[in-house]
Amino acid sequence: LAVIGIDLGGTKTAGLVLDRGDIVERYRLSTDATSQDSVMGGLLEVYSRLRESAVSKGMEIEAVGLGIAGFVDFERGVVTEAPNHPLRDAHVKDILEKRCGLPVFVDNDANVAALAEARLGAGKGARFLVHLTLGTGIGGGIIIDGQVYRGALGAAAELGHMVICENGPHCNCGARGCLEAMVSGVAIYQRVEELAAVGRVSPMVEEFLADPAAFSAEAVGRHADAGEVVAEEILREAGRHLGTGIASLVNIFNPDAVTLSGGLLGSFSHMEDAMRRSFAETAIDISRRHVRILTGTLGDDGGMLGAAILALESLKG
Ligand SMILES: [Zn+2]
Repeated sequence: LAVIGIDLGGTKTAGLVLDRGDIVERYRLSTDATSQDSVMGGLLEVYSRLRESAVSKGMEIEAVGLGIAGFVDFERGVVTEAPNHPLRDAHVKDILEKRCGLPVFVDNDANVAALAEARLGAGKGARFLVHLTLGTGIGGGIIIDGQVYRGALGAAAELGHMVICENGPHCNCGARGCLEAMVSGVAIYQRVEELAAVGRVSPMVEEFLADPAAFSAEAVGRHADAGEVVAEEILREAGRHLGTGIASLVNIFNPDAVTLSGGLLGSFSHMEDAMRRSFAETAIDISRRHVRILTGTLGDDGGMLGAAILALESLKG
């Protein structure tokens, strides 16, 4: 059975063809987030290219799965809201099924990334799994008894907005001290901005001041690699907060595995010890001893693979 899985993010729309468990085709383009039509147009182009090359090799596509950054009503296949692109109350499933003539399944991108890690990735075989994507923001997915947990409206598993410090920094969502406001790429950038504002001097702060727009959390990792103490401190702090957040999740869900993915893993060596220490201090013993905290093995493919797995499994019922 061959299926197409597409990951629609704020910056790229990337897809693959999964044929009996193997990735056989790939295609990606930049997301044109000008309008709903431009986003849907990009989605359809990725779909068409993948289907054409699959058909030309004698494969038959049976279904399409989509992972989309935003709130998704899975049953109806409607994207209700999205932070990084203009899909609002978008009936993505209906629109694509009409254009493709195939069953289409739509879910949140972090939900399908969790599904991929539970089926094929670091958490393979886990019945209970919590997944965190650590990037510019923080996304989350929860697998309960083998199934994606979506909540009443498809808005569940916003793990980045778990509050871990009531009086902490302001978060994009309007609250304070969310995991995303303490640990994400944006949060790490803000820590550097604060150091620059109070006149701290270091090569990292100099690089920031030279071109704040070009600076990113990745640069903090680079300076930490070079042994710069302030950079190491920022990442250690982030690691400590991450460990506290993971402990709360483990206390609530008693998972077999917690998997981590995303761009921040490039700096993970500077975060991991502090993360494991605060996790061990905070988590309940019985759950702590059982769970494995793992870095995901699927990388950027997680979203696309998860979307393809969603299509396969939904097709089988
Ligand atoms: Zn928040």
